[in-house]
Amino acid sequence: MKIIVVGGVAGGATAIARLRRLDENAEILLLERGKYVSFANCGLPYYIGGAIEERDSLFVTTKESIEDKYNIEIRTENEVLSIDKENKRVRIIDYTSGREYEEDYDKLLLSTGSSPFIPDVEGINERNIFKLWTVPDVDAIYSFIEKEKPKKAVVIGGGFIGLETAENLYEKGLEVTLVEMSDQVMPPLDKDMAKILENHLENKGVKLLLGEGFDGTENKGKTIKLKSGKKLESDITILSIGVRPNSEIAKSAGLELNERGGIKVDKFQKTSDENIYAVGDVIEVKDFILGTNTMIPLAGPANKQGRAVASNILEKREETYKATMGTSVAKVFDMTVATVGSNEKSLIKKGYKYKKDYYISLVHPMSHAGYYPGALPMTIKLIFGRDGEILGAQIVGYDGVDKRIDIIATTIYFKGNVYDLSDLELAYAPPYSSAKDPVNFAGYVATNILEGLTEPITLQELKEDKSKYTVLDVREEIEQVSGMMDEAISMPLTEIRNRIGELDKNKEYAIYCAVGIRGYIAERILKQRGFSAHNILGGYRTYLDIE
Ligand code: FAD
Repeated sequence: MKIIVVGGVAGGATAIARLRRLDENAEILLLERGKYVSFANCGLPYYIGGAIEERDSLFVTTKESIEDKYNIEIRTENEVLSIDKENKRVRIIDYTSGREYEEDYDKLLLSTGSSPFIPDVEGINERNIFKLWTVPDVDAIYSFIEKEKPKKAVVIGGGFIGLETAENLYEKGLEVTLVEMSDQVMPPLDKDMAKILENHLENKGVKLLLGEGFDGTENKGKTIKLKSGKKLESDITILSIGVRPNSEIAKSAGLELNERGGIKVDKFQKTSDENIYAVGDVIEVKDFILGTNTMIPLAGPANKQGRAVASNILEKREETYKATMGTSVAKVFDMTVATVGSNEKSLIKKGYKYKKDYYISLVHPMSHAGYYPGALPMTIKLIFGRDGEILGAQIVGYDGVDKRIDIIATTIYFKGNVYDLSDLELAYAPPYSSAKDPVNFAGYVATNILEGLTEPITLQELKEDKSKYTVLDVREEIEQVSGMMDEAISMPLTEIRNRIGELDKNKEYAIYCAVGIRGYIAERILKQRGFSAHNILGGYRTYLDIE
């Protein structure tokens, strides 16, 4: 059997290795239009900043090593121009010679990935305007910085690659401005969670311009024009606006695509053509939680699909790739941000209603026991349905964020719910966690909500209907010195039982403490004495984060 694989990085490289391990006799040809195969695209930003010191570290392996180890023919700088699916043939251009030629296949695997979106605007091709996607891209940025010693950098786009790039340019000593068209950074987060990151970026000295669209450059790329009319000076600009699937050859071959250009595949990664398979950023996947179709360009899913597809291509045994839940993590200076599943804004877009179709728990636990040195806070936003099913989670913090998101992702994978998050027995010693892990805490709050023990409101709800609530601050007076919410009445938790006569049963109380625990206790006291009371999710910490 002759198998041609198109694209030799995440999905493609995994697939060829697995193909060979499963079948020593198959003829495998890998075609890659770039200069390199199997490079660490996820590591590229860190080479700019210097965390990855050696350029060689960016190569997971080399072409020669794969060829030797796996007996696979690899042709780099060879691009597939078209697919003739009826005759099972691809047309290729070899950029080293300029020659065009054809190759037949029995099975074809497309792992062509995605490409960064480059808008067609004035001055986009100036020599100080870059994208960061491949090794040649990072080489160009690296050498520009070494030679030209730029001082001011503009990063366009506040997704995870944009943020990683901003951090690494900053680490390199540049003054960085980050421009983002939407009203928040990091699209997988909700705005309230993104705000924590935005504060951190600004504290670090990155200038943030939200709600600003890129509109080209002038003055040889040294002036960045924004749609609002604003202009920024920039010695080097990196575009990180979004990605598009590399599905042109699939489209012209008549393979079935979705409206975003993603190749449609079945659970065996087979496209609409019997002999063509596809994996990675270029395909449409099933949302693990909602079951809907979506596109989630991440390295983990690409690798898993690349591994699974090999058996299907070889018709050895059927291996299915179920679905993607979008588990992701990124470092943003000292903070770590991680997400899994849906966020609130995407659920709302899909027609979900808060307190009807989904609920939120918002907690600020410490990364490990508070009495052991080095404990740092994290914020966990857990989104769950009426029956406790987990719809998504977002975590922003400093330490232990990656571990907690992976626990939640694993729970989702095994169809666990918020009751399971409460019940999970997790490893504990003071340097690592607390006897009640942050994940347990998120679960406790969620189950308390579902059981009606607490009826929390979000700060947004409070803001939208201020006149409905009387706000009680139940922190100790010493904590209130540094600030209180607008129009809040001070009634520390320790005094509430004695001062209950000051409260009015005709009023609806919105209660807050520092992070939500004392607010919940106060809510329980009031509720059990016949008052209408709501804990404010996230407490004063969230108020400070998002105000
Ligand atoms: P790729 O790995 O992009 O490989 C596609 C290859 O196909 C490319 O080399 C391309 O040249 C080649 N190709 C395309 N068309 C043709 C053609 N017609 N003929 C021949 N060759 C062709 N994901 C994470 O999960 N975590 C991270 O931290 C992370 N960080 C990232 C940082 C950066 C800077 C970048 C760029 C990406 C990052 N990603 C991250 C995303 C991750 O790298 C991708 O999701 C993953 O590589 C997708 O795998 P793939 O096989 O679909 O495509």
